[in-house]
Amino acid sequence: METFWSIVIAVMFILFFCAFIPSGKGDCTVCGTHGLTKDLQFYNFKEIASAHQPLKGIGYYCTACAGKVEEAAKLVAVAKANAPTQTWPATYKGKVPVVPGSEQSRVHSDWQKEKESAREQLLVTSVYLFPEANAVKQIEFDKRTDSTGNYQYTVWRASGIPCKVQ
Ligand SMILES: [Zn+2]
Repeated sequence: METFWSIVIAVMFILFFCAFIPSGKGDCTVCGTHGLTKDLQFYNFKEIASAHQPLKGIGYYCTACAGKVEEAAKLVAVAKANAPTQTWPATYKGKVPVVPGSEQSRVHSDWQKEKESAREQLLVTSVYLFPEANAVKQIEFDKRTDSTGNYQYTVWRASGIPCKVQ
């Protein structure tokens, strides 16, 4: 009899703790199919600013959606490889050799702890959105203080104007 109640209590404990395991982890980011996490691949598009990420950015996806995700990943990889190397800060007073009419609207990175990562994300996002762009001008940084509990830190956001130069 004692064994019986031990088993009942053990089962109740297991059920109680299972309720706290996040069930969303196995959902496919693209189609929402719930599957076993081990069958899903994890993918993120963090090189691209979240507002412009293909699909839903960061998450797991199922094998049925793999083609769609890989296609998007290829475009991100192309953007990464073609990130503009010609850049000018907003403080630059000289003449930038911009092809007339090639300027796009200002692109923003996400807020990041590293100023350099914000800048990198701006460049990749710029060419991802405008594959014609080979330069980014008027680059500037916004700065603010974020906190996690008592820990305070500075975060940076980069922005600039994608354009084409001769
Ligand atoms: Zn899916």
